[in-house]
Amino acid sequence: MATINENYLNLQGSYLFQTVARKVREFEAGNPDARLIKLGIGDVTQPIAPAILNAMHKAVDEMGAANTFHGYAPDLGYEFLRTAIVENEYRKRGIDIEPDEIFVSDGAKSDCSNIQEIFDQNNLVAVCDPVYPVYVDSNVMAGRSGAFNEEKKLYSNLIYMPCTESNGFIPDFPKINPDLIYLCFPNNPTGVAITKERLQAWVDYALKIGAVILYDAAYEAYISDDTLPHSIFECSGAEYCAIEFRSFSKNAGFTGLRLGFTVISKKLKLSGKSVHAMWARRHGTKYNGAPYIIQRAGEAVYSPEGNQQINAQIATYMKNAQFLKTALKDAGYTVYGGENAPYIWLKTPNGLSSWDFFDLLLNKAGIVGTPGSGFGPNGEGFFRLTAFGTYENSVEAIERIKGL
Ligand code: PLP
Repeated sequence: MATINENYLNLQGSYLFQTVARKVREFEAGNPDARLIKLGIGDVTQPIAPAILNAMHKAVDEMGAANTFHGYAPDLGYEFLRTAIVENEYRKRGIDIEPDEIFVSDGAKSDCSNIQEIFDQNNLVAVCDPVYPVYVDSNVMAGRSGAFNEEKKLYSNLIYMPCTESNGFIPDFPKINPDLIYLCFPNNPTGVAITKERLQAWVDYALKIGAVILYDAAYEAYISDDTLPHSIFECSGAEYCAIEFRSFSKNAGFTGLRLGFTVISKKLKLSGKSVHAMWARRHGTKYNGAPYIIQRAGEAVYSPEGNQQINAQIATYMKNAQFLKTALKDAGYTVYGGENAPYIWLKTPNGLSSWDFFDLLLNKAGIVGTPGSGFGPNGEGFFRLTAFGTYENSVEAIERIKGL
Protein backbone atom coordinates (compact mmCIF):
# COMPACT_ATOMS: atom_id res chain seq x y z
CA MET A 1 0.00 0.00 0.00
CA ALA A 2 1.33 3.39 -0.92
CA THR A 3 1.80 5.82 1.93
CA ILE A 4 2.51 9.53 1.86
CA ASN A 5 5.59 11.43 2.93
CA GLU A 6 4.24 12.49 6.32
CA ASN A 7 6.74 15.31 6.58
CA TYR A 8 4.45 17.26 4.27
CA LEU A 9 1.80 17.21 7.00
CA ASN A 10 4.18 19.29 9.08
CA LEU A 11 4.04 22.21 6.62
CA GLN A 12 2.30 25.20 8.07
CA GLY A 13 -0.90 26.63 6.59
CA SER A 14 -1.01 28.09 3.15
CA TYR A 15 2.01 29.80 1.75
CA LEU A 16 2.30 33.47 2.71
CA PHE A 17 1.61 34.78 -0.78
CA GLN A 18 -1.46 32.60 -1.16
CA THR A 19 -3.01 34.26 1.90
CA VAL A 20 -2.12 37.68 0.52
CA ALA A 21 -3.64 36.72 -2.85
CA ARG A 22 -6.85 35.50 -1.19
CA LYS A 23 -7.25 38.74 0.76
CA VAL A 24 -6.63 40.75 -2.40
CA ARG A 25 -9.22 38.70 -4.33
CA GLU A 26 -11.78 39.28 -1.59
CA PHE A 27 -11.06 43.02 -1.56
CA GLU A 28 -11.33 43.27 -5.34
CA ALA A 29 -14.62 41.37 -5.36
CA GLY A 30 -16.07 43.84 -2.84
CA ASN A 31 -14.48 46.93 -4.44
CA PRO A 32 -14.59 46.42 -8.20
CA ASP A 33 -13.69 50.06 -8.95
CA ALA A 34 -10.68 50.30 -6.64
CA ARG A 35 -7.27 50.69 -8.30
CA LEU A 36 -4.90 48.62 -6.21
CA ILE A 37 -1.19 49.41 -6.07
CA LYS A 38 0.66 46.12 -5.72
CA LEU A 39 3.95 46.36 -3.87
CA GLY A 40 3.72 42.88 -2.41
CA ILE A 41 5.17 39.97 -4.36
CA GLY A 42 8.81 40.34 -5.35
CA ASP A 43 8.28 39.94 -9.08
CA VAL A 44 9.85 42.25 -11.63
CA THR A 45 7.65 44.31 -13.94
CA GLN A 46 9.91 45.57 -16.76
CA PRO A 47 10.02 43.57 -20.01
CA ILE A 48 13.01 41.58 -21.20
CA ALA A 49 15.74 43.96 -22.46
CA PRO A 50 16.12 44.25 -26.30
CA ALA A 51 19.62 42.71 -26.49
CA ILE A 52 18.39 39.65 -24.59
CA LEU A 53 15.27 39.41 -26.71
CA ASN A 54 17.36 39.51 -29.91
CA ALA A 55 19.51 36.66 -28.64
CA MET A 56 16.38 34.64 -27.90
CA HIS A 57 14.92 35.30 -31.36
CA LYS A 58 18.14 34.10 -32.93
CA ALA A 59 18.16 30.99 -30.74
CA VAL A 60 14.52 30.28 -31.63
CA ASP A 61 15.42 30.34 -35.32
CA GLU A 62 18.37 28.01 -34.68
CA MET A 63 15.98 25.51 -33.12
CA GLY A 64 14.02 25.46 -36.39
CA ALA A 65 16.90 24.30 -38.63
CA ALA A 66 18.33 20.77 -38.55
CA ASN A 67 21.97 21.91 -38.58
CA THR A 68 21.56 24.35 -35.65
CA PHE A 69 18.90 22.52 -33.65
CA HIS A 70 19.71 21.78 -29.99
CA GLY A 71 18.24 18.88 -28.06
CA TYR A 72 19.08 18.03 -24.45
CA ALA A 73 21.46 20.58 -23.00
CA PRO A 74 24.66 19.40 -21.29
CA ASP A 75 23.89 18.43 -17.68
CA LEU A 76 25.75 21.31 -16.10
CA GLY A 77 24.89 23.95 -18.70
CA TYR A 78 26.34 25.10 -22.02
CA GLU A 79 30.01 26.00 -21.98
CA PHE A 80 29.28 29.42 -23.56
CA LEU A 81 27.09 30.42 -20.59
CA ARG A 82 29.30 28.97 -17.88
CA THR A 83 32.32 30.75 -19.34
CA ALA A 84 30.39 34.05 -19.55
CA ILE A 85 29.29 33.65 -15.92
CA VAL A 86 32.81 32.91 -14.71
CA GLU A 87 34.33 35.83 -16.62
CA ASN A 88 31.72 38.41 -15.67
CA GLU A 89 30.58 37.40 -12.21
CA TYR A 90 33.79 36.03 -10.74
CA ARG A 91 37.08 36.67 -12.56
CA LYS A 92 36.24 40.37 -12.96
CA ARG A 93 36.06 40.51 -9.17
CA GLY A 94 39.33 38.62 -8.80
CA ILE A 95 37.58 35.38 -7.74
CA ASP A 96 39.07 32.13 -8.95
CA ILE A 97 36.11 29.97 -10.08
CA GLU A 98 36.30 27.53 -13.00
CA PRO A 99 33.47 27.06 -15.56
CA ASP A 100 33.01 23.46 -14.41
CA GLU A 101 32.24 24.72 -10.91
CA ILE A 102 29.09 26.43 -12.28
CA PHE A 103 25.86 24.39 -12.43
CA VAL A 104 23.29 26.08 -14.67
CA SER A 105 19.67 25.56 -13.61
CA ASP A 106 16.15 26.90 -13.87
CA GLY A 107 16.55 29.28 -10.93
CA ALA A 108 17.68 29.82 -7.37
CA LYS A 109 14.44 28.64 -5.79
CA SER A 110 14.83 25.07 -7.00
CA ASP A 111 18.55 24.97 -6.27
CA CYS A 112 18.42 26.35 -2.75
CA SER A 113 15.66 23.94 -1.85
CA ASN A 114 17.03 20.88 -3.68
CA ILE A 115 20.57 21.25 -2.37
CA GLN A 116 19.66 19.85 1.06
CA GLU A 117 19.09 16.44 -0.57
CA ILE A 118 22.82 15.79 -0.66
CA PHE A 119 23.28 16.38 3.07
CA ASP A 120 22.63 13.97 5.91
CA GLN A 121 19.12 13.75 7.24
CA ASN A 122 20.35 14.56 10.75
CA ASN A 123 22.19 17.74 9.82
CA LEU A 124 21.15 20.70 11.94
CA VAL A 125 19.92 23.57 9.79
CA ALA A 126 20.18 27.25 10.75
CA VAL A 127 18.01 29.89 9.13
CA CYS A 128 17.54 33.59 9.66
CA ASP A 129 14.32 34.82 11.24
CA PRO A 130 12.70 36.46 9.26
CA VAL A 131 13.61 34.40 6.20
CA TYR A 132 12.69 33.59 2.59
CA PRO A 133 10.19 30.77 3.38
CA VAL A 134 11.57 28.30 0.81
CA TYR A 135 14.61 27.32 2.95
CA VAL A 136 12.38 26.33 5.88
CA ASP A 137 9.63 24.61 3.90
CA SER A 138 12.02 22.50 1.81
CA ASN A 139 13.71 21.25 4.98
CA VAL A 140 10.28 20.48 6.50
CA MET A 141 9.48 18.37 3.43
CA ALA A 142 12.79 16.55 3.92
CA GLY A 143 11.93 15.73 7.53
CA ARG A 144 14.71 17.83 9.00
CA SER A 145 12.57 20.38 10.84
CA GLY A 146 10.98 18.50 13.75
CA ALA A 147 7.48 19.38 14.89
CA PHE A 148 6.01 22.86 14.60
CA ASN A 149 5.59 24.72 17.89
CA GLU A 150 2.28 26.58 17.55
CA GLU A 151 3.02 28.93 20.40
CA LYS A 152 6.48 29.99 19.29
CA LYS A 153 5.64 29.68 15.57
CA LEU A 154 8.93 27.82 15.07
CA TYR A 155 10.02 24.30 14.13
CA SER A 156 11.66 22.48 17.03
CA ASN A 157 14.71 21.09 15.17
CA LEU A 158 15.64 24.17 13.14
CA ILE A 159 18.01 26.75 14.54
CA TYR A 160 16.56 30.23 14.13
CA MET A 161 18.92 33.20 14.03
CA PRO A 162 17.00 36.37 14.94
CA CYS A 163 17.54 39.31 12.59
CA THR A 164 16.27 42.32 14.46
CA GLU A 165 16.73 46.06 14.75
CA SER A 166 19.21 45.48 17.56
CA ASN A 167 21.63 43.44 15.42
CA GLY A 168 21.00 45.48 12.28
CA PHE A 169 19.22 42.45 10.75
CA ILE A 170 22.54 40.58 10.44
CA PRO A 171 22.38 37.34 12.46
CA ASP A 172 24.74 36.54 15.33
CA PHE A 173 26.32 33.08 15.50
CA PRO A 174 23.82 30.64 17.01
CA LYS A 175 24.33 29.16 20.48
CA ILE A 176 24.15 25.61 19.10
CA ASN A 177 26.53 24.78 16.23
CA PRO A 178 24.61 24.15 13.00
CA ASP A 179 25.75 21.90 10.13
CA LEU A 180 24.06 23.86 7.36
CA ILE A 181 23.61 27.64 7.48
CA TYR A 182 21.35 29.48 5.05
CA LEU A 183 22.39 33.09 4.51
CA CYS A 184 20.90 35.50 1.98
CA PHE A 185 22.42 38.91 1.24
CA PRO A 186 21.23 41.39 0.10
CA ASN A 187 18.36 40.03 2.12
CA ASN A 188 14.81 39.20 1.32
CA PRO A 189 12.75 40.36 3.20
CA THR A 190 14.74 42.98 5.19
CA GLY A 191 16.57 44.53 2.23
CA VAL A 192 19.74 44.69 4.33
CA ALA A 193 23.19 43.85 2.88
CA ILE A 194 26.18 42.35 4.71
CA THR A 195 29.67 43.84 4.85
CA LYS A 196 32.64 41.85 3.67
CA GLU A 197 34.03 41.80 7.19
CA ARG A 198 30.85 40.27 8.66
CA LEU A 199 30.59 37.75 5.84
CA GLN A 200 34.23 36.79 6.33
CA ALA A 201 33.44 36.20 10.02
CA TRP A 202 30.67 33.79 8.96
CA VAL A 203 33.07 31.97 6.64
CA ASP A 204 35.67 31.71 9.43
CA TYR A 205 32.97 30.42 11.79
CA ALA A 206 31.77 27.80 9.27
CA LEU A 207 35.35 26.62 8.70
CA LYS A 208 35.90 26.38 12.46
CA ILE A 209 32.80 24.29 13.19
CA GLY A 210 32.79 22.30 9.90
CA ALA A 211 29.50 23.76 8.65
CA VAL A 212 28.47 24.55 5.08
CA ILE A 213 27.04 27.99 4.26
CA LEU A 214 24.26 27.94 1.66
CA TYR A 215 24.59 31.48 0.33
CA ASP A 216 21.72 32.95 -1.65
CA ALA A 217 22.93 35.98 -3.59
CA ALA A 218 19.83 36.36 -5.80
CA TYR A 219 19.84 40.14 -5.23
CA GLU A 220 23.56 40.92 -5.61
CA ALA A 221 22.92 43.07 -8.71
CA TYR A 222 21.19 45.64 -6.49
CA ILE A 223 24.31 46.38 -4.45
CA SER A 224 25.22 50.03 -4.92
CA ASP A 225 27.90 50.30 -2.21
CA ASP A 226 31.20 49.25 -3.83
CA THR A 227 32.62 47.96 -0.56
CA LEU A 228 29.94 45.26 -0.16
CA PRO A 229 30.53 41.68 -1.33
CA HIS A 230 28.59 40.43 -4.37
CA SER A 231 29.66 36.84 -3.78
CA ILE A 232 30.63 34.81 -0.72
CA PHE A 233 33.67 33.68 -2.73
CA GLU A 234 35.13 37.16 -2.18
CA CYS A 235 35.86 35.89 1.34
CA SER A 236 38.97 33.84 1.88
CA GLY A 237 38.35 30.17 2.58
CA ALA A 238 34.76 30.25 1.26
CA GLU A 239 35.60 27.70 -1.44
CA TYR A 240 36.06 25.15 1.38
CA CYS A 241 32.76 25.80 3.16
CA ALA A 242 30.21 27.58 0.95
CA ILE A 243 27.78 26.98 -1.89
CA GLU A 244 26.42 30.01 -3.74
CA PHE A 245 23.04 30.37 -5.46
CA ARG A 246 22.51 32.96 -8.15
CA SER A 247 19.57 33.92 -10.31
CA PHE A 248 18.84 35.80 -13.52
CA SER A 249 15.37 36.63 -12.17
CA LYS A 250 15.94 39.90 -10.40
CA ASN A 251 18.93 41.31 -12.31
CA ALA A 252 17.57 40.65 -15.81
CA GLY A 253 13.85 40.02 -15.37
CA PHE A 254 13.99 36.24 -16.02
CA THR A 255 11.27 35.39 -13.46
CA GLY A 256 9.15 34.02 -16.33
CA LEU A 257 12.05 32.68 -18.42
CA ARG A 258 13.73 30.75 -15.57
CA LEU A 259 17.51 30.67 -15.30
CA GLY A 260 19.94 30.51 -12.41
CA PHE A 261 23.12 28.80 -11.34
CA THR A 262 24.82 27.26 -8.34
CA VAL A 263 28.52 27.50 -7.64
CA ILE A 264 30.33 24.71 -5.81
CA SER A 265 34.10 24.68 -5.68
CA LYS A 266 35.81 21.36 -6.25
CA LYS A 267 37.70 22.12 -3.04
CA LEU A 268 34.56 21.69 -0.92
CA LYS A 269 34.83 18.26 0.67
CA LEU A 270 32.97 16.66 3.59
CA SER A 271 34.44 13.51 5.17
CA GLY A 272 36.82 13.45 2.21
CA LYS A 273 33.93 13.33 -0.29
CA SER A 274 33.51 15.93 -3.01
CA VAL A 275 30.28 17.92 -2.62
CA HIS A 276 30.78 19.14 -6.20
CA ALA A 277 30.75 15.54 -7.47
CA MET A 278 27.62 14.73 -5.46
CA TRP A 279 25.71 17.73 -6.77
CA ALA A 280 26.88 16.94 -10.33
CA ARG A 281 25.49 13.42 -9.88
CA ARG A 282 22.22 14.72 -8.49
CA HIS A 283 21.88 17.46 -11.13
CA GLY A 284 22.62 15.02 -13.96
CA THR A 285 20.13 12.47 -12.65
CA LYS A 286 17.17 14.67 -11.79
CA TYR A 287 17.50 17.66 -14.11
CA ASN A 288 17.75 17.77 -17.88
CA GLY A 289 19.16 21.25 -18.32
CA ALA A 290 17.85 24.78 -18.82
CA PRO A 291 16.54 25.35 -22.38
CA TYR A 292 19.08 26.34 -25.03
CA ILE A 293 17.06 29.47 -25.90
CA ILE A 294 17.10 30.63 -22.29
CA GLN A 295 20.80 29.92 -21.86
CA ARG A 296 21.49 32.05 -24.96
CA ALA A 297 19.35 34.75 -23.34
CA GLY A 298 21.49 34.42 -20.22
CA GLU A 299 24.67 34.81 -22.27
CA ALA A 300 23.27 38.05 -23.74
CA VAL A 301 22.93 39.49 -20.24
CA TYR A 302 26.72 39.76 -20.31
CA SER A 303 26.99 41.41 -23.75
CA PRO A 304 27.86 45.14 -23.58
CA GLU A 305 24.34 46.13 -24.75
CA GLY A 306 22.60 43.59 -22.51
CA ASN A 307 24.62 44.70 -19.53
CA GLN A 308 23.87 48.35 -20.13
CA GLN A 309 20.15 47.65 -20.60
CA ILE A 310 19.74 45.55 -17.45
CA ASN A 311 21.67 48.12 -15.43
CA ALA A 312 19.19 50.75 -16.60
CA GLN A 313 16.32 48.53 -15.42
CA ILE A 314 17.92 47.99 -12.03
CA ALA A 315 18.48 51.75 -11.73
CA THR A 316 14.76 52.30 -12.36
CA TYR A 317 13.82 49.93 -9.55
CA MET A 318 16.37 51.46 -7.23
CA LYS A 319 15.03 54.94 -7.96
CA ASN A 320 11.69 53.64 -6.63
CA ALA A 321 13.40 52.14 -3.60
CA GLN A 322 15.18 55.36 -2.80
CA PHE A 323 11.99 57.38 -3.25
CA LEU A 324 9.90 55.03 -1.08
CA LYS A 325 12.51 54.95 1.66
CA THR A 326 12.99 58.71 1.83
CA ALA A 327 9.28 59.52 1.60
CA LEU A 328 8.34 56.99 4.29
CA LYS A 329 11.04 58.35 6.57
CA ASP A 330 9.77 61.87 5.98
CA ALA A 331 6.29 60.64 6.86
CA GLY A 332 7.61 59.45 10.23
CA TYR A 333 8.10 55.74 9.54
CA THR A 334 11.11 53.75 10.66
CA VAL A 335 12.49 52.19 7.49
CA TYR A 336 15.31 49.75 6.63
CA GLY A 337 16.72 48.28 3.42
CA GLY A 338 16.12 49.87 0.03
CA GLU A 339 19.74 50.93 -0.57
CA ASN A 340 21.36 47.74 -1.80
CA ALA A 341 18.19 45.71 -2.37
CA PRO A 342 14.80 46.25 -3.98
CA TYR A 343 13.00 45.75 -0.66
CA ILE A 344 11.87 48.27 1.94
CA TRP A 345 11.41 46.87 5.45
CA LEU A 346 9.30 49.22 7.51
CA LYS A 347 8.21 49.12 11.10
CA THR A 348 4.44 49.14 11.44
CA PRO A 349 3.12 52.33 13.09
CA ASN A 350 1.58 52.41 16.58
CA GLY A 351 2.60 48.86 17.35
CA LEU A 352 0.16 47.38 14.81
CA SER A 353 0.66 43.72 13.98
CA SER A 354 1.98 42.99 10.49
CA TRP A 355 -1.36 41.55 9.33
CA ASP A 356 -3.36 44.45 10.88
CA PHE A 357 -1.17 46.89 8.97
CA PHE A 358 -1.64 44.78 5.82
CA ASP A 359 -5.44 45.01 6.24
CA LEU A 360 -5.26 48.75 6.94
CA LEU A 361 -3.16 49.46 3.85
CA LEU A 362 -5.35 47.23 1.67
CA ASN A 363 -8.72 48.45 2.87
CA LYS A 364 -8.00 52.13 3.47
CA ALA A 365 -5.30 52.90 0.91
CA GLY A 366 -5.66 50.20 -1.74
CA ILE A 367 -2.01 49.18 -1.35
CA VAL A 368 -0.81 45.58 -1.22
CA GLY A 369 2.39 44.82 0.68
CA THR A 370 3.67 41.76 2.51
CA PRO A 371 3.28 41.24 6.28
CA GLY A 372 6.66 40.75 7.92
CA SER A 373 5.33 38.06 10.26
CA GLY A 374 4.84 35.81 7.22
CA PHE A 375 8.65 35.51 7.05
CA GLY A 376 9.06 34.40 10.68
CA PRO A 377 8.24 35.47 14.25
CA ASN A 378 10.88 38.21 14.27
CA GLY A 379 9.19 39.75 11.22
CA GLU A 380 6.18 40.58 13.41
CA GLY A 381 5.65 44.33 13.59
CA PHE A 382 7.34 44.81 10.20
CA PHE A 383 6.10 45.12 6.65
CA ARG A 384 7.80 44.60 3.27
CA LEU A 385 7.27 46.83 0.26
CA THR A 386 8.95 46.09 -3.05
CA ALA A 387 10.48 48.60 -5.43
CA PHE A 388 9.44 46.55 -8.47
CA GLY A 389 6.42 48.75 -9.27
CA THR A 390 6.49 51.83 -11.49
CA TYR A 391 7.75 55.19 -10.23
CA GLU A 392 4.27 56.67 -10.70
CA ASN A 393 2.75 53.93 -8.55
CA SER A 394 5.41 54.40 -5.90
CA VAL A 395 4.60 58.13 -5.77
CA GLU A 396 0.88 57.47 -5.57
CA ALA A 397 1.39 54.81 -2.89
CA ILE A 398 3.15 57.37 -0.72
CA GLU A 399 0.38 59.93 -1.25
CA ARG A 400 -2.16 57.31 -0.15
CA ILE A 401 -0.10 56.29 2.88
CA LYS A 402 0.27 59.93 3.94
CA GLY A 403 -3.51 60.31 3.67
CA LEU A 404 -4.21 57.43 6.05
N1 PLP B 1 16.09 33.56 -3.42
C1 PLP B 1 15.48 34.59 -2.85
C2 PLP B 1 16.01 35.15 -1.59
C3 PLP B 1 14.32 35.13 -3.43
O1 PLP B 1 13.71 36.16 -2.85
C4 PLP B 1 13.83 34.58 -4.61
C5 PLP B 1 12.60 35.08 -5.26
O2 PLP B 1 11.89 35.91 -4.82
C6 PLP B 1 14.51 33.49 -5.16
C7 PLP B 1 15.63 33.01 -4.55
C8 PLP B 1 13.98 32.83 -6.40
O3 PLP B 1 14.85 33.00 -7.46
P1 PLP B 1 14.52 32.29 -8.86
O4 PLP B 1 13.49 33.11 -9.55
O5 PLP B 1 15.84 32.27 -9.56
O6 PLP B 1 14.03 30.91 -8.58
